[in-house]
Amino acid sequence: MNCNDILSTQLLENPPRISVSEAIDIYENANLNDLMYVASMARKRIVPGNEVTYLVDRNINYTNACTINCQFCSFYRPPNHSEAYTQSYDEISKRVSELEDIGGSRILMQGGVNPDLELNWYIELISRLHEEHPNIDLDCFSPIEIEGIAEICQLSTREVLLSLRNAGMHGLPGGGAEMLVDTVRLDVSPKKGTSNNWIRVMREAQELGLTTSATNVIGFGESASDRVMHMDLIRNLQDETSSSYEGFTSFISWPVQLQNNVFGSRNKGSNRTELGATSSEYLRHVAVSRIFFDNIKHIQASWPTMGMQVAQLALSAGADDAGSTMMEENVVSASGTNKTMATEMELQKIIFRSGFKPRKRDSDYNLLKTTTLVQSDVYANPPMQI
Ligand code: SF4
Repeated sequence: MNCNDILSTQLLENPPRISVSEAIDIYENANLNDLMYVASMARKRIVPGNEVTYLVDRNINYTNACTINCQFCSFYRPPNHSEAYTQSYDEISKRVSELEDIGGSRILMQGGVNPDLELNWYIELISRLHEEHPNIDLDCFSPIEIEGIAEICQLSTREVLLSLRNAGMHGLPGGGAEMLVDTVRLDVSPKKGTSNNWIRVMREAQELGLTTSATNVIGFGESASDRVMHMDLIRNLQDETSSSYEGFTSFISWPVQLQNNVFGSRNKGSNRTELGATSSEYLRHVAVSRIFFDNIKHIQASWPTMGMQVAQLALSAGADDAGSTMMEENVVSASGTNKTMATEMELQKIIFRSGFKPRKRDSDYNLLKTTTLVQSDVYANPPMQI
C-alpha cells in the first residue's frame, strides 16, 4: 500500500490498526492537510462530538535541585548551587489554596531528583496536602523522581509508589519520557536510564490504580522511525495494561526547547535544522499520534511550547484537549518561552475560535460545571493576546 492507500484505509468506519511501518510511511510522506483530515476523522470516531476539554490546574515545581543533568533542561540546579531551592510544606499548601480560589481541581507537582529528600519527606507532603485540600487531585512526580527516591531509600519503585498512593497521591504524570529511544536518551540524558525504566515505572503506577499520562518530546535530531517507535512502546504498554487497569488517559507531545540549556548551546551554530520542531512538523506529529493511538482516548495540544495559534490548529489535527491553565510554570519558561500560563477564559476562547465547544474537566477527564463564555464574548474587545 502506498501512503494514500494507508490514509484511505484509516477513513473506514472500523479501520484496522495502523502498523509501525505504515505509520512511518505516512509520517514521512503524507501531505500534511491529508494527514490532519484523517486524524480529525479518527478523533471524531474516538472522541465523538464537538467538545474540546481543558483543565484548570496549577504546576508546582517543589524543588529544582537535581543530579540527573539532562542536557535539554534549563530548570535544574546542582544540589549545592546557590540557586537550588526546595519549597516548604506551607509554601506548597498556599499555592494549592490559590488554585482552589480560582476553581481548580488538580495540581501537577514535579521537580528534580533531589538527593537530600527522603521518602518520608514526600509522604508527609502528600498526606498533608491530601488532608488540607481533599478536593484537589494530586498528580505528582515522574518516573525518574520515583527512581531517585527508591535509590535514596533503598526501596523498589513499586514500594515508593505504593507509599505515595496510600498517602493520597492521585496520579503519576508521564514526564521524563522525552524520546523512548535509548540512543537518543544516552546522548541527551545518560543518567536518566533506559526507555524500559520509564515503561516499567508507569506499568507499576497503572497497576496500583494511579492516573497516568504519556508524553513525548521531539526534536533531538531523531528520525520519523524513532518517533513512531516511541509511540509503539507506549501503545504496547497500553494494550498490556488497559484491559485490567485504566492505562494512559492521554498522549501529550511538544518540541524540545533550545534556549538556556546545554543541548541548545552544544548545537548552536551547527545549522542542524532538524533540531526542535517547526509548527508544521509538530502538527504532523499530533496527527500521526491520533491515527496511531487507537487505544489512548485523548490527545492533548501543547500551547505553552507551540503558542496558542498552533495549539488551535492542533485541535484540527486530532487533538481533543487544550491542556491546562498551569497558573505557574518554571520548567518550560526557564527555556525562554514567554507565555506559560493561561486563564480559563483564554482557553475557552481558543477552543471557541477553533470551532469547538469548551468543556472543563478534571484530571480523569470527568466533565465539570463552570461558567462558559457566550459566543458574543469570544471576539469581545480588547482582543485576547495570543
Ligand atoms: S529534566 Fe528533570 S531529571 Fe532532567 S535535569 Fe531537569 S529536573 Fe532533572
